[in-house]
Amino acid sequence: MITFASVFSVRKMDKVCIGDKRFRLYIPQEKIAEKVGELARRMAADMSGKNPLFVVLLNGAFVFAADLLRAMDFPCEVEFMRVRSYDGTASTGSVEVIQDIRVDIQDRTVVLIEDIVDTGTTMHFLLQRLRERRPQSIKIAALLFKPESLRYDFAVDYAAFRIPRDFIVGYGLDYNEQGRNLKDIYVIDD
Ligand code: 5GP
Ligand code: MG
Repeated sequence: MITFASVFSVRKMDKVCIGDKRFRLYIPQEKIAEKVGELARRMAADMSGKNPLFVVLLNGAFVFAADLLRAMDFPCEVEFMRVRSYDGTASTGSVEVIQDIRVDIQDRTVVLIEDIVDTGTTMHFLLQRLRERRPQSIKIAALLFKPESLRYDFAVDYAAFRIPRDFIVGYGLDYNEQGRNLKDIYVIDD
């Protein structure tokens, strides 16, 4: 169960409780909008004219992708892929593809849109899997990146925020499937 501290208030919630965990406000929606806008401008400068294929990783990246993609105004295509690697607040170390893309990516400029890169297990797995289909290039765009947790050697080409190793919810990211609809980003407060 998610408990909203001030459901009927327009004031920002400083704290939220989701299940057994407490979270505090970490990145307000105005700051998210500013950084996502900056990222969209950088990506547009690199990618307009290439008709990139954006692959949105469900579920977590749906809010970020909706804002990021609407901030770009050049021709592009959007597909969705569903993977799972997390259980509660810890990475399981194995990646499961629940829904793959069905389009041919050979010779395409592919951009993976991810909510957060933590250990890098998910991205490493997906890069290997998609490179076999011979795209022209694969880039990674992540809302959040935890560089101290990264265990693999690849570049996060576009990251809106670099953060420490703490557990995050909100703006698409969940704790046990709750909290995705929070407008702001929250960090665990235990
Ligand atoms: P990785 O494979 O890089 O360890 O983890 C990537 C996936 O784990 C992300 O796509 C995300 O679903 C989940 N994840 C990693 N860190 C967090 C976090 O702080 N909060 C939430 N809600 N999910 C996370
Ligand atoms: Mg994810």
